Amino acid sequence: MSTCPHSNVRCLSEFELIRKYRCESCGAVMMCACDESIGRKFLAQQLEFGVELDTKRAVPVTAGFQPKVCEECRGLPLTPHPMAASPVAPQKFRDTIGVNSASRP
Ligand SMILES: [Zn+2]
Ligand SMILES: [Zn+2]
Repeated sequence: MSTCPHSNVRCLSEFELIRKYRCESCGAVMMCACDESIGRKFLAQQLEFGVELDTKRAVPVTAGFQPKVCEECRGLPLTPHPMAASPVAPQKFRDTIGVNSASRP
């Protein structure tokens, strides 16, 4: 059992419906617990491997679902899902989101 809190994770590919994250500290690959119910129901075949965006390599998921992995669960600014968003450059879209949430009362 690892005692790593997996507090320094990086998304392997934002283009996957169920995102996989690699912990920079211990190297474990995991998914966020908030994706677990939908993942097990509809995307069971995507839960064992992730695809690294840069290399297109399949990366085995070693740590399964872990709590508080994604930006949303960790209270960080959301990275918009490129599949759901319009074909705007992700950075631009992120900036727009930032402006909107900052100007909200
Ligand atoms: Zn870790
Ligand atoms: Zn989450």
